[in-house]
Parts: sequence; structure tokens; C-alpha cells
Amino acid sequence: HHIVEVRDLAHTYADGTAAVRGISFRIHHGESVAVIGANGAGKSTLLLHLNGTLTPQSGTVRIGDFPLTKETLRDIRRTVGMIFQDPDDQLFMPTVAEDVAFGPLNLGLPADEVEIRVQRALARVGIEHLRARPPYKLSGGEKRAVSIATVLAMSPDILVMDEPSANLDPRARRMLIALLAGFQHTKIIATHDLDLVLDLCPRTIVLHEGRVMADGPTAAIFTDD
Ligand code: ADP
Ligand code: ADP
Repeated sequence: HHIVEVRDLAHTYADGTAAVRGISFRIHHGESVAVIGANGAGKSTLLLHLNGTLTPQSGTVRIGDFPLTKETLRDIRRTVGMIFQDPDDQLFMPTVAEDVAFGPLNLGLPADEVEIRVQRALARVGIEHLRARPPYKLSGGEKRAVSIATVLAMSPDILVMDEPSANLDPRARRMLIALLAGFQHTKIIATHDLDLVLDLCPRTIVLHEGRVMADGPTAAIFTDD
């Protein structure tokens, strides 16, 4: 049974840009998959379908047991944790702890359960010491860590990331890779960062002009022949 199934997905933006032109793939529970391709290949558009930000115009997306429709959006958003390229898009509360608590509170969880989740998520990314700090004053690496904690606090099965290592200094980038390597979650990572692909993703999907140009073992994708 696959945790993600995308079938014949196509998406054309309102201005007529055909960003995704018939994409199909399936992902097993626990797999880590890189999605690579030039700018404009359709990576972000595909990812936005995996957490329900976009719903299919044509084709289907199934996450766990749920076909992606307007009715299942809530279930999909609980199953899929989306980490956006720019942490500033995800952090907006006065303190780190409040940012991490925001999602669980929105689920309607009781305060003590929320606090447990906040502590666990902060510990998981090693930033308990930042809990009372205002997110906007943190370094890029620290903001990235907080954005990951906000997602972990929702207990997602799947982590979807759009360029998670963008704008990180080398040390923060290494920490990010080590951190993600320790997660058992199913991971889908759109990136231009070759180290991230080689270190974290045994499988790579290559997009080109809205289509899957290659899909297979990362080692095979990066072998010239
Ligand atoms: P990638 O993430 O691989 O760079 P995108 O999914 O962002 O690819 O973009 C695919 C194509 O869709 C590009 O031609 C891009 O310019 C276009 N596109 C992306 N978002 C929009 C939008 N909101 N409206 C119109 N065109 C868009
Ligand atoms: P700075 O660049 O401001 O010195 P550090 O790299 O020292 O920030 O990180 C501060 C804390 O944030 C570290 O203790 C580490 O646990 C956490 N951290 C930083 N970057 C990341 C990252 N990319 N992923 C996870 N945790 C991170």
C-alpha cells in the first residue's frame, strides 16, 4: 500500500501556463524522495498538490487513505507537514513556543497536550533554549529549525519540503541534513542541493517541463551514460 499516489496530475495556471502536464508516481511509507529539475519544471506546483494547497484540475492525488478533495483537506493537512522555502512565511507569533503551539491549538487539543507537543518538537530539533525568543530575531538556521518544529508538532506522517536548505550557511545546512536524516517520516524534498539529494534521498524524481523525465534510484539518476 502506497502512502502517496499521484496519477495523471495536470495543472494549468489562470494565465495559461501549463506547469504540470501529466505526472504519475507512487511513494511507499517511509521512503525519502528527491524531486529535482530546472526552475520552472513544476516542482512547487506538484508539492502544493501534496498538502492540498492546490486541488487537482485533472488527475488524482491520494494521501494515505484519502483522495485529495475539498472534503478531505483537513485530513490531508494533518497527514502532510509542509515546510516552505522561506521560514518567514511560516513564523508569525511573538515567540517560538507560540509558533510551535499554533497548529496543535488549532486542532483543538487541550493545553497540556499542546505543551507536551511543543516541548517534544523543540527537543527534536534541539532548540528548547529558543522557546521564549521572537522568531524574527533568529538566524536563518534557527528559523529553519523552528519552522520544522512547527510542522513536527502536528505529528505528520509525511514531510514535504520545498528547498529546505536554501539560504542556510554551510553549518546550518549540515545540521539540517543530519536532523532530517534522523526522521523516520516519509519525505518528499524538492531541491537543487545535490548533497541533500545524495545524503537523504535513495530515490529521485526528475521533472522537466511539467513531466517526469526520470524516476529511480538516486545513484542511477546521477550516473552518466
Ligand atoms: P519549479 O518549482 O520547478 O520552479 P513551478 O511549479 O514554480 O516550478 O513553476 C512551473 C511553471 O508554472 C513555471 O513556468 C512558472 O513560471 C509557472 N507558475 C508558477 N506559479 C504560477 C502562478 N501562480 N501563476 C502562473 N504561473 C505560475
Ligand atoms: P547561528 O547560525 O545563529 O550560530 P546555530 O547554527 O548555532 O545558529 O544554531 C543554533 C541552534 O539552532 C543549534 O543549537 C541547533 O540546534 C539549531 N539549528 C540551527 N540550524 C538548524 C537547522 N538547520 N536544523 C535544525 N536545527 C538547527
